[in-house]
Amino acid sequence: MRDHFEIRDADAAGRIGRLEVPRADQTVETPALMPVINPNRLTIEPARLEAEFGVEILITNSYIIRETESLREQAEDEGLHEMLRFDGAIMTDSGSFQLSEYSDVEVTTEEIIEFQHAIGSDIGTPVDIPTPPDVSREQATEELATTQQALADAEGIDVGEMLLNAPVQGSTYPDLREAAGDHAAATDLNVFPIGAVVPLMNGYRYDDMVEVVAAAKRGLGVDCPVHLFGAGHPMMLALAVALGCDLFDSAAYALYARDDRYLTVAGTQQLDDLDYFPCSCPICSEQTPADLQSKDEDTRTRLLAEHNLHVTFEEIRRIKQAIRSGNLLELVERRARGHPAMYDGYRALLDHADQLEAEDPVSKGSFFHTSAESARRPEVLRHHKRLDRLAVPAQLLLTEGGAPDGDEYDDAWRVVPPFGPFPRELSDSYPFTATVPDRPDRAGQVAAADGVRVLVEANPDTKFTLAVDDWPADALSRVPDRVTVESLAAIHDDAD
Ligand SMILES: [Zn+2]
Repeated sequence: MRDHFEIRDADAAGRIGRLEVPRADQTVETPALMPVINPNRLTIEPARLEAEFGVEILITNSYIIRETESLREQAEDEGLHEMLRFDGAIMTDSGSFQLSEYSDVEVTTEEIIEFQHAIGSDIGTPVDIPTPPDVSREQATEELATTQQALADAEGIDVGEMLLNAPVQGSTYPDLREAAGDHAAATDLNVFPIGAVVPLMNGYRYDDMVEVVAAAKRGLGVDCPVHLFGAGHPMMLALAVALGCDLFDSAAYALYARDDRYLTVAGTQQLDDLDYFPCSCPICSEQTPADLQSKDEDTRTRLLAEHNLHVTFEEIRRIKQAIRSGNLLELVERRARGHPAMYDGYRALLDHADQLEAEDPVSKGSFFHTSAESARRPEVLRHHKRLDRLAVPAQLLLTEGGAPDGDEYDDAWRVVPPFGPFPRELSDSYPFTATVPDRPDRAGQVAAADGVRVLVEANPDTKFTLAVDDWPADALSRVPDRVTVESLAAIHDDAD
């Protein structure tokens, strides 16, 4: 376990954690959203963020402060907390983003970390290289080596109680991301931002984002607090949390507001296109879209930014409750229905069900089978992996219906899509307490058939009978030939 991070609760690879930030004398509950503060333009005063939005941690850019004489003098003179009038934890970025955009950043890791320390930052950042997606492998490898040197430089600096970020780069190469995660976790740095995913999110490439994050997480391991750098749209937070991301930052709330863009959990709307607000935050419940449009630009921007933050924090709270209740994947599934790109992201997440299964708690609230994708959830995979541990008798009936009264079989197990067969005594255990639809979908039946196959193959000496109705051919074709398949009606007729 890393010193400053403790996991309290988990669901899929998502978790509720506690990040200790000693220099701020604060413990931040994760998943947490850090509003990005542009020190040149405070859309919402940090003191209001703390008092009205419950913000425990924010992020600002030390490079901008260092390059702006008046800000630098003020920060050096009174410190960041006093300058921003914020008592919570403050993370500072290093200028890496400016480096990637303008390529004229001339500051070393040592200089910027010493500056961050001097102005009272609580979590500092070295100068890494945010390698964009889709570059050549050669470029990604070279730049990753530079980033890793920055991590080594950062490790060598005495920063007292200030925590340090260890950014994970590697572009869109999963093996480089995994190696970068592995390398970062081996340092004694504290927080692990996964960098340069913003172009993927701006391009609605949520499936590619999932591949990058899943790879980085494989390298980092479970106990590292992970910051998905540049991610703060409420639409994608549940997906990112389910992958195991703990910290997010939102510049979007303010940047989008300046363009009259209104955030929702199903995507972004243009204020002009709205006749009604689908939200009950203080801003949306007190005025109509027309009222908001009639305000002057500064007021409109501020009020839209406030709505954008409210809806984002609301989603963070909903995610935390989902982790507590054990239904985070149901929430991810609902978000996947909001946008086709999120659907791609959810399906990519389920491609890593094996990776999620390693961290997913064995027992949770209730499993809701709400779509074909539910059949690919880690709980189903786990059951199939464990079927060979169950003791079976010589003659076993696997049935979607009740058991016949006769003694033709030694035992009768239930078959429930998407899980497949399980002994009746497990009926009250998670996930077999699942609520499943009365009209099973094909994917669930196919998954159940896969479960039957695993059980049959693990028990070559048992005679199996499978009693099901209306399974499609592609499910039945997965059942081994030596299984006698009956209809439910036939089984009950025999018993009469
Ligand atoms: Zn609102």
